[in-house]
Amino acid sequence: MRRWNGWGDDTITYHLPEGARQFLVEIAGPGTPPRDAALADVVAGVPESRLPDHALVSKDPEDRVRHARGQSLPDWIALRSGRIPAFPDGVAYPGTDDEVHDLLRYAAGAGARLIPYGGGTSVVGHINPLPGERPVLAVDLARLSRLRRFDETSQMATFGAGVMGPDLEAQLRARGCTLGHYPQSFELSTLGGWIVTRSSGQQSLGYGRIEKLFAGGTLVSPAGTLELPPFPASAAGPDLREMVLGSEGRLGILTEATVRAAPLPETEAFHAVFFPDFEGGRGAVREIMQARLPLSMLRLSTAVETQTTLALAGHERLIGALERLLSLRGVSDEKCMLMLGFTGREALAKTARKEALGIAGGHGGIHVGRTFGTEWHKSRFRTPYLRNTLWEMGYAIDTLETAVDWATVPAMLLAIEGALRPGLEDLGERVHVFSHLSHLYPYGSSIYTTYLYRIAPDPEETLRRWQGLKAAACDAILAHGGTISHQHGVGTDHVPYMPVEKGLLGMAAIEDLCQRFDPDGMMNPGKLIQGETGSM
Ligand SMILES: Cc1cc2nc3c(=O)[nH]c(=O)nc-3n(C[C@H](O)[C@H](O)[C@H](O)COP(=O)(O)OP(=O)(O)OC[C@H]3O[C@@H](n4cnc5c(N)ncnc54)[C@H](O)[C@@H]3O)c2cc1C
Repeated sequence: MRRWNGWGDDTITYHLPEGARQFLVEIAGPGTPPRDAALADVVAGVPESRLPDHALVSKDPEDRVRHARGQSLPDWIALRSGRIPAFPDGVAYPGTDDEVHDLLRYAAGAGARLIPYGGGTSVVGHINPLPGERPVLAVDLARLSRLRRFDETSQMATFGAGVMGPDLEAQLRARGCTLGHYPQSFELSTLGGWIVTRSSGQQSLGYGRIEKLFAGGTLVSPAGTLELPPFPASAAGPDLREMVLGSEGRLGILTEATVRAAPLPETEAFHAVFFPDFEGGRGAVREIMQARLPLSMLRLSTAVETQTTLALAGHERLIGALERLLSLRGVSDEKCMLMLGFTGREALAKTARKEALGIAGGHGGIHVGRTFGTEWHKSRFRTPYLRNTLWEMGYAIDTLETAVDWATVPAMLLAIEGALRPGLEDLGERVHVFSHLSHLYPYGSSIYTTYLYRIAPDPEETLRRWQGLKAAACDAILAHGGTISHQHGVGTDHVPYMPVEKGLLGMAAIEDLCQRFDPDGMMNPGKLIQGETGSM
């Protein structure tokens, strides 16, 4: 069964080897396992629902707890401590578009706010009900998951938007295709969620971000239904898909989406290269990107991320052998790992591999073959389970991300890490910070940073630590001209930073759009923009 206060299936545990546990003590100090609230106690404290009865709406307190928060660190702190300020008053499970229409009418009649719920994997507060006078209805789209149409000739597939990653891929693979969209949350996130948060998969370099894969669909909104036909391209004025991408449940419910699939690749392999330092790796990935080579993935870790990844992986004998080999070639403490993915037609993948490894070699990179890449590929959806283990050992972990042009990458990386690392010095606490460049472009790159610190005995204090660290990093991102999010979206956590990025006219235009689709401000208020319809 899915964990109610953590990541994933509760039969799966990420075991950390003893060496990894010692590493954590060295970098952050010994952790103290927190005392988590029990589900039964949280359920017992859920207030009476304020919604009228409806055949599709469950008011079961446990359902309401399970739809109360997403997967951000503040969400975890709330769930694990049992201090949850607001619950949805009911959870609906529509199975058809007509039922979605019906629920919108019901919510409007009840004066309720409505939150579309995909997989609940948001890491920025997208699906959290905010405290307020009006009742809140969460609309869980899990039953809208059928493959509705498959056009073999055009390689386009139309799914109910609530389909989850593994189900979507299985249905495409049975037809000789793939979407190739693999966010790390793949196991639990949905097609609709990917689209309205502008998600990016680990192999977006080859397959494209969701913006490229989303061809069209149906949005059911309080003001009516918007149909987006899946044209291959169109010059008929502004592209209305762009309004839906990143709309974060503010405009309506995406009930179905047509995606552009690709044929299953003939070959796929992930290789690793180690550089003596980050500069060498950065030069190599920029050159590979600007050569427009057809790779499916590039991921360059800083020295601290490389060291952390190897320490947490276990496999001491294998890593010992690797380190001896690398040090003979002059690559030691500052080593940085680059993962490269080659996917597609055999002949193209072979050429791309030769060219990319040649460029990497020219920047001092040492190719160590496929072992590390294969391991990464095997465990790529297992890594989120590590968050459960870390929490239970007394460590909080969070990630943040931005994107900038190549010229700004070095300063941005320094600024983000420089804002986080000393962030808890006043309290005598250490913050372990590391980053990688992934989702690369010929003109720039995303920067993805992970930070880890010790959980405090008081959940409010753990939250305050997070607030201070998050604000410092976001300020650094904006000060250096980065976007507040490359792939996680806005939710509630990034709302305060939006006017800096979009400008006042830009924000007013987004607010007007929400007003047009949702005149009474019932759709997911407080996310993307402030207030009911942005007026607060
Ligand atoms: C461990 C972990 C790893 C992650 N890795 C990645 C990653 O690699 N790349 C990445 O981009 N993101 C990643 N994320 C973030 C998250 O998975 C994405 O934002 C994802 O797109 C959310 O999808 P979801 O179905 O879970 O949506 P939810 O979290 O349920 O909802 C997100 C927002 O979308 C709205 N929504 C959902 N479905 C619909 C719909 N059908 N119609 C209208 N509105 C809807 C909700 O109202 C909400 O505002 C990760 C998260 C976690 C916890």
